[in-house]
Amino acid sequence: MAKFSKETTERIASALGKKNINGRCPMCHDGLLKIVDGFFVPRIVHGLVEVHLTFGGEQTIYPCVGITCETCGYTALFSLAVLGLADLFQEGGKNA
Ligand SMILES: [Zn+2]
Repeated sequence: MAKFSKETTERIASALGKKNINGRCPMCHDGLLKIVDGFFVPRIVHGLVEVHLTFGGEQTIYPCVGITCETCGYTALFSLAVLGLADLFQEGGKNA
């Protein structure tokens, strides 16, 4: 499985930095936040019925990048679209 290139990691770090998301963990106030080396792809549903209907079928996904605390494990997800990084998800699919 392809890992993030140095350029991709730098683009993510830059986009998060522009939103003032960096530095120490907001939960334990101790650990450093690191970019998770891969995309998170939560899916969007509006209730239990849709969970069953979308299993193996059409799904609405919400590509995100995650950061996690090295000390406590706190993890936060950020929308690639909102960060202006949706193209990274498309490019990653080419290598899948
Ligand atoms: Zn922490």
